[in-house]
Amino acid sequence: MSPGRQSADGRDRRAPLLVAANHVGGELAGDRERARQRGDGDRVEAEREADTAGEQPRGERDDQRLPRRVTREHTPRRGATGLNIRRAEAARAGRPTRDRGPVPGTVLFPGSRVHGVNRDDEFDFDHRPVTEQSFENALAAARDGDRLTVDDAVELLTTGSETPGIDERRKELVLEAADRRRAEVVGDEVTFVANLNNNVTTACNTGCLFCNFKDTAANFERDADTGHPGFTKTPAESRAAVRDALERGIYEVTSVSGLHPAFALDAEHHEILAGFDDPASEVNYKPPERYDTDPGTYVEQMRAMSADGAHLHSITPEEAHHAIRGTEWRYEDAYRRLREAGLASVPGTAAEILVDEVRDVICPGKMDTQAWLDAMEAAAAVGLPMTATIMYGHVENEAHRALHLKRVRELQDRTGNITEFVPLSFVHETTPLYERGVVDGGASAAEDELMIAVSRLFLDNVDHVQSSWVKYGDAQGLKMLSCGADDFMGTILSEEITKRAGGSYGEFRSFDDYVEMIRAVGRVPVERSTDYERRRVISGEPPHGPTLGPRADGTPLLRPSERATTGDAASADD
Ligand code: SF4
Repeated sequence: MSPGRQSADGRDRRAPLLVAANHVGGELAGDRERARQRGDGDRVEAEREADTAGEQPRGERDDQRLPRRVTREHTPRRGATGLNIRRAEAARAGRPTRDRGPVPGTVLFPGSRVHGVNRDDEFDFDHRPVTEQSFENALAAARDGDRLTVDDAVELLTTGSETPGIDERRKELVLEAADRRRAEVVGDEVTFVANLNNNVTTACNTGCLFCNFKDTAANFERDADTGHPGFTKTPAESRAAVRDALERGIYEVTSVSGLHPAFALDAEHHEILAGFDDPASEVNYKPPERYDTDPGTYVEQMRAMSADGAHLHSITPEEAHHAIRGTEWRYEDAYRRLREAGLASVPGTAAEILVDEVRDVICPGKMDTQAWLDAMEAAAAVGLPMTATIMYGHVENEAHRALHLKRVRELQDRTGNITEFVPLSFVHETTPLYERGVVDGGASAAEDELMIAVSRLFLDNVDHVQSSWVKYGDAQGLKMLSCGADDFMGTILSEEITKRAGGSYGEFRSFDDYVEMIRAVGRVPVERSTDYERRRVISGEPPHGPTLGPRADGTPLLRPSERATTGDAASADD
C-alpha cells in the first residue's frame, strides 16, 4: 500500500489513473474508478440521487415565478476564463505567453486541450452543471430565503448563462441578494481574530496536485543528500513560537501541517506503527530517529501549542486520519485524546471539493468524501467547534461546487458545530496542477464573488462566511465583504501555504490595517474569538491592538520596525 492511503478501517483508498503519471504519491489505481469501470454499485448515480432526494423543483410553487425551463447544460467557464485573463495580462505587459508543454514523464488527460477548455470533456465527469431550473426562479428563491437546491446553486453560480462567460448584470443581482442576507444574519460587523500560524512541518508524501506547501519526506532524512526549503519544528520550538505570540497578544494558534511519516498520535501509536513488517510502505511510517528533526507526537505538539491558554485550532480531518493510521482506532478516539491534550477547535480544511470524482483528480492520495465527513462528525461528537472550507477554481465545475455546499449544509444540520464557512480560491501558480498543464489558471474574480455569494445564500445554517485576504488580496478581499462575507480572517503572524503556491498576499495584517480597511467600506471592525463567542467592537483612533487573548492588553502585535520585515512571514493544506 502506498504511503498515506490507508483508511481508518484499513481499506486501501488508492485512486485512479486520472492524473499525471509523475504524481508524487506513486500508485494511482483505485477502488472507486475500478468500481465505476466495472459498473458495479454505480456510486456516482447513487450520489446524484442522494443529492437531489427531497429537492422540490422550483417554478410551480409561486405564480410570480417563471415556469421551469427545460433541462440544459451550462458551459463551465473557469478554465477558459483563467486562461484568457492570464494571456491577456501577459499580452498587456508585452510578455510572451509561456509554452507549458508536459513535463517529462507526464501523461496528460486524453483529449486535454488548452483553448476553449471544457473540463467536463477532459475529465469525463459524471456531475455536470445541468439543471431543470431557471436563473430567475433560483434568484427568487434566494431572495425569499428559501432553502436552495443544488440546481438553484448551479443557476446562481453560472448566472444561468448557456454561453461562456458570466452575465454581469445577473451576477450583480446574486451579489445583492447575498449582501442583503448577510446584513439580515449578522449585521454590519466585520470580524477578525488575532492569530499565529504555526505549522509544524512541510514533510509530506501525500502528493496533492494543488499543493506546493509540502516537501517529499525523504528529503528530511538524516542521510538524504538533497536539499529542501522545508522545515520541521520540535514541540519545544512550537511552544517557544506560541509563547512569543501570546506575549504579543494573540488569541488563537492555527496549525495545519504536512503528514510527516514520523508523526504518530502518541507513544502507543509509535509502537503499533513500528510493528508492521514494512511500516514505510504499509502505513507511511518511519521512526523519528531517521529524520533530522523529530516532530514529536501529535499529543506532544498539542500540549506545546496550547500552552499558557492559547486557543489551539488544529488537526484537520486528514491529520486525524494520519493520527490513527494502522490502528483500529476511530476518529472520535483521536479527537478525544487530542482535545485532552489542548486541542480547542478543528479547521475543516482538506475538504477541497467534496465530490470523489474531483478528489480522484486533484488529491488521489487523500481521504474520500465520506471519510472527511466522518472525521468532522467525530470532532463534533467530542464537542469541538469547527470550520468548513471549499477549495475551488481548479478542475471542478459548478455542479461540484453546488454539491459540496449541500454536503456541508447537511453536515451542519447533523452537528451544528460549524462556526464559519471559508471559500478558498485555488492559487495555481507553482502547483503541479498548473505546471503540468492540467489547469490553465484559477477562478476569475467574478467566480470568486459568486462563490462567496452563493455560499452565503445556500448555507442557511452557517452564520459566518470568510473572505480570505491571503487568497484574494486586500482589494478583492474587501469587495467580498459586500458579496456575502462578514469575516476577514486573522492577523496571521506567519503564513506559508499560499506563499509557497505562488500567492503574494501571505503576510502579517495588523489591527490598524484591519480597522482602516473595514471602516473604509462603511462596516464595523470587530475583534473576535475563534468560536465567535467573544467579540469587541473596535472604536477610537489608532494604534489598535488585540484585547481578547490571555496576555493581550491592546498593544499592537508588532512594533513598526518589526512590521517592515514581515514580508518573509508565512499555512499547509489548502
Ligand atoms: S495538501 Fe496537505 S496532505 Fe496534501 S500534499 Fe499538501 S500538505 Fe500534504
